[in-house]
Amino acid sequence: MPDNTVPLPDFTRWPSFPFEGDMRVRPLAAPVEVEPPRSGEDAADCVACGTPDDSYIWISERWRVRAMDRPTGLPMVLILECRSHLDLGDLPNLLAAELGVMTVRLERAIRSLDGVARVHVNRWGDGSAHLHMWFLARPYGRLQLRGTFLSLWDDILPVIPEPQWRENLALVAAWLAGFGGEAIAEPPHIQWESPSTIAYSPTANANGTIDETSPETPDSEDRRPATLGDIEAAKPPSQTSTPDPDPTTSPIAAESGAREEPTPQPQATT
Ligand SMILES: [Zn+2]
Repeated sequence: MPDNTVPLPDFTRWPSFPFEGDMRVRPLAAPVEVEPPRSGEDAADCVACGTPDDSYIWISERWRVRAMDRPTGLPMVLILECRSHLDLGDLPNLLAAELGVMTVRLERAIRSLDGVARVHVNRWGDGSAHLHMWFLARPYGRLQLRGTFLSLWDDILPVIPEPQWRENLALVAAWLAGFGGEAIAEPPHIQWESPSTIAYSPTANANGTIDETSPETPDSEDRRPATLGDIEAAKPPSQTSTPDPDPTTSPIAAESGAREEPTPQPQATT
């Protein structure tokens, strides 16, 4: 049935909807009889299980928190994972209870950052099998970003300055470490020996539309706290999957349904 006659749903007229202009509903594909395995269904192939602690911003005995491998449009996007190779519905009572505590703690930590109004907590789980909860910070004052489409706006907004992002990662890590575990992310520090080589876009810095906080220290090419793409790059190369042609595509989009297929994102571990 031709779908260009399907009326557009109301949400396309919401102020928070990121797009405007002529649109039509995409034709609905036929359902598959058997869904393909998610990345990391087998613990032996699980990227999360195989990623070392130093790729995270904070670690504890049973939980780890990681960031994206680079700043994005939102002030903070973090992932909470359990160490055990389990999905949400498989958690034993101990981990289930701790998930609640960790969720509240991480929400508070992110909300404590300057310029953050609200923290959206999401679990999609269509991309990778290993439990991973998304924490997305909505910038204060940006009422247009409220609600459902925040994960889409993350790809649309200008990228926040890297020094500010690093500082925020360190703040969240330190906050969490105040309750236990170990902070891995460190605040940015001045590197006197050599100029920075970080791809720090002056244009992204110049617009400053997300948060007026100015970076106070030069960026430094020290450890990148995390690579979320690793999580989504679940399938090993030997398995058949459609590679993402755009390595900058948000892994959030892969899971939230913004992308056509929740294809794992090939991305190098840093
Ligand atoms: Zn795993």
